[in-house]
Amino acid sequence: MPPRVVFSADEAESRAAKGEAVILVRIEPSPEDIHGMRAARGILTTRGGMTSHAAVVARGMGRPCVAGAGGITVDYGAQTLSAGGQVVRAGEIITLDGSTGEVFLGAVPMQEPQLSGDFATLMGWADRFRRLKVRTNAETPLDAETARKFGAEGIGLCRTEHMFFDPNRIGAVRQMILAHDEAGRRAALEKLLPFQREDFIALFRIMAGLPVTIRLLDPPLHEFLPHGPQEIAEVAQAMGQDPAVLERRVAELAEANPMLGHRGCRLGITYPEIYEMQARAIFEGALAVAAETGKPPVPEIMIPLVGIKRELEITRAIIEKVAEQVFAEAGRRLEYSIGTMIELPRAALTADAIAEVADFFSFGTNDLTQTTFGLSRDDAGKFLPFYLEKGILARDPFVTLDVEGVGALVRLASEKGRRTRPALKLGICGEHGGDPASIAFCEEVGLDYVSCSPYRVPVARLAAAQAALGAASDRTA
Ligand code: PEP
Ligand code: MG
Repeated sequence: MPPRVVFSADEAESRAAKGEAVILVRIEPSPEDIHGMRAARGILTTRGGMTSHAAVVARGMGRPCVAGAGGITVDYGAQTLSAGGQVVRAGEIITLDGSTGEVFLGAVPMQEPQLSGDFATLMGWADRFRRLKVRTNAETPLDAETARKFGAEGIGLCRTEHMFFDPNRIGAVRQMILAHDEAGRRAALEKLLPFQREDFIALFRIMAGLPVTIRLLDPPLHEFLPHGPQEIAEVAQAMGQDPAVLERRVAELAEANPMLGHRGCRLGITYPEIYEMQARAIFEGALAVAAETGKPPVPEIMIPLVGIKRELEITRAIIEKVAEQVFAEAGRRLEYSIGTMIELPRAALTADAIAEVADFFSFGTNDLTQTTFGLSRDDAGKFLPFYLEKGILARDPFVTLDVEGVGALVRLASEKGRRTRPALKLGICGEHGGDPASIAFCEEVGLDYVSCSPYRVPVARLAAAQAALGAASDRTA
C-alpha cells in the first residue's frame, strides 16, 4: 500500500494503527513528534539537514527521511505541501528516497531488500581484514538490538537526550529545564532517575559486556521548550505554576543561537544536578546488570561540547563523586572510563591538554563540521545544494568528512591527544562514522573505531575492510 501524506504526528499514529501507510510531513519536527515518526514509513521536513535532529533520529529508526527540503513549502492550515508549481494535499501519495533526498509525486515501484546467506559470507570476509572496530549510535533497545544483529561491537554514542522524547518523560524534562531553582530541577530529576536507570539496564543487557559509551545530556534547549499556549499550559499545570509565569520563563530561556548556546557540558556545569542524576543512573544500572549476569558492564561516560580542559575537569569530578557514593551505597565497585567528545575546534586545538583528563576522545564531526565551517547544521539545506551544484564544494560536508579542513582538526587532535596519553582510545560518532569515504580517512588517521546508526553498520564493516586493504596496498606501493 503506497504511503499517503499526513501533516501531524497524531494522525500518523492513528492512521498507522489502522494499517495505513503514511509519510509524516513537518516543517520542523519537535520532540513530541517522535510517536508519529515511529508510525510513519517516511519523514519529510522542510527545515533541518543531514545531521539535524529529525534526520538523526529517523536514521536510527531505519526510516527514510528527507530533512531540510528547502524547495518545498508546507501549509499546515491548508494541509498542503507545494513545490515547483505542484500542490500535494493530505491523503495524496508521495514517495521518498532517503538516500538522495528526492521526493516523487505518486507511487514509485519498490522492492524489499533480501538478506541472503551471501550477506553473512561477505561480512565475514570484511571482518577478517578490517582493523577499525564498528560500533553503533543507539539509545533504544530496538536500535541496540538491530545494531547487534548487524554486527555492531558496542555502542559508540548513546544520546541520552533522545531517551527523553517519550511522552511519559518529556513533561519531567521540561520541568527540569524550566525550573526556577535547583530544588525545582532536583524534583524533576528525581522523576527521571528511574527511567534513566532502566534505559541503561536495557542497553547494558543487550550489549552484554561490549563497550557502551553514554553521552550525558546535550540538548539544544529549543528542541525541548514547550511551543505554544497549549503546551505551556500543560507544563504549567504539572508544575503547579501560573502559565503566564511559565511563559516568561520560556521567553527567558529562548536563545538566539541554541546550537551554540546553553547546551552540552555548559548545562552540566551550570546545573550539576543533571549530570549527577545521569551518572547515578549509569552506575546503579551497571551494578544491577553486573549482579544479574555476573558480567559487569564497562560504561564509558562521555561529556559533550567540551572546548576548555577545565570543563572536563569539573564534569569529571562530578561523575567521580557520584561513582564513589553509589559504590559505597552498594558495597561494590566497577570499572568505568570518562572521556569527551571532540566537536569544537578549540577542543581539537587544545587536545593535548584535554587528554590529560580524558580516557578517550570521540569525534563529534556533526558539530565539528558545523563549527569549523561556521555552517548551521539546521539551515545549510537552504544554500548548500547551490554550492554543490556550482562545485564550490565537491561534497556535502555533513555527509562526507571534509578531510582538508575538519579532517585536519581530527588528525591534529588525534596526534596531540596520543602524545599526552599514548593509550587514548579514539573514535568517531558523527554521521560520518557510517560514510565509506570518511571511514577511509578514519583508518588513515588511526582511529580505533567508527560508530554509526544501526542500519549503516554493515556498510561500515565493509568500508572499514576496504579502508584497511587500501591502506595496506598504499604502504606496499
Ligand atoms: C556530533 O556533533 O557529531 C554528535 C555526534 O553529536 P550530536 O549530533 O548529538 O550533536
Ligand atoms: Mg554534537
